[in-house]
Amino acid sequence: MSVIIIALDREQEAWRRPIQNLLPDIEILTWPDIGDPGAVEIAIVHKAEPGALGGFPNLKALIGMWAGVEHILERPDLPEVPIARMVDPLIARDIGHYVALHTLMHFRSMPRIFANQRERRWKHVQPPPLNLTVGILGLGTVGKISARMLRDLGFGVLGWTRTLNDSGEVRCYAGRDALKEFLSAAEVCVCTLPLTVETEGILNATTLGALPRGAYLINAGRGGHVVEEDLLAALDTGQLAGATLDVLRDEPPPHDSPFWGHPKVTITPHNAADPRPNSVAGAVADNIRRALAGEPMLNLVDRARGY
Ligand code: NAP
Repeated sequence: MSVIIIALDREQEAWRRPIQNLLPDIEILTWPDIGDPGAVEIAIVHKAEPGALGGFPNLKALIGMWAGVEHILERPDLPEVPIARMVDPLIARDIGHYVALHTLMHFRSMPRIFANQRERRWKHVQPPPLNLTVGILGLGTVGKISARMLRDLGFGVLGWTRTLNDSGEVRCYAGRDALKEFLSAAEVCVCTLPLTVETEGILNATTLGALPRGAYLINAGRGGHVVEEDLLAALDTGQLAGATLDVLRDEPPPHDSPFWGHPKVTITPHNAADPRPNSVAGAVADNIRRALAGEPMLNLVDRARGY
């Protein structure tokens, strides 16, 4: 019996070591050294070669290495086994920091202050407005912690989810019918949604147009959430004051992408949060034990929902 780690764009050994330390009796392998394919019962997956997931006839479970699983669900070689995704307090904390950082950068006019410094101009910048309402699309593991951090910083916070979230922590709107009302109050709009059939292209001309004029967008979800031409148009007309994008449709964006040099856009290379092997190894080992014992894994993905 063995477990295989397949992550072509990650340092696989850095993932293998801490998991192996927690599970000394189980052989943890890294792609492409798969040993006997019939012995592999669990695959821990990020980026994998086409067809790679189809080569293990006795696979019992898949464990995604990221919080988002759209790149796994869309694979033609996806086996019919339960899939768990990555849930880790450090991932959520890091996204919360990212959202708080870029909200504060906008609130405190930091891009203008940086530009003044580069031009050696000692120029007083208008104080920020009294308050700001931040609307968070998606109040899951990462959206919730972002909401808490923003609230602790004194911002007004709203959330939008698929099913009504009545925890009482933030004012919550649910479903498409409530989206317009939610957007109309979101002076900063933060996306922490999973990418699904329902959320693909959700930030488009209509929804960006429903935000208050001069709103700011922070996308820490996936590039596929944004219709990029519509975002550029909204920035050109002043409907949006600016945007911070951790994720883009093409990663990395092509050399001539307008986002590289756009004066109102900050892009970061999909690293609002990156799972740290030492932090997530315990949760991965726990799910391996569960799957091997025939118990349900934690943080299971609902294939029909897409997250
Ligand atoms: P999660 O716990 O599954 O939460 C997803 C949230 O989105 C839930 O609140 C869910 O609503 C809501 N949602 C899903 N589909 C919706 C729809 N059609 N309409 C309205 N709301 C919808 O996921 P998570 O761990 O917070 O992660 C969310 C996403 O963040 C990931 O999928 C990934 O795209 C992104 N992410 C990015 C980075 C990065 O480095 N940039 C890192 C980690 C995660 P319900 O509460 O009703 O289910």
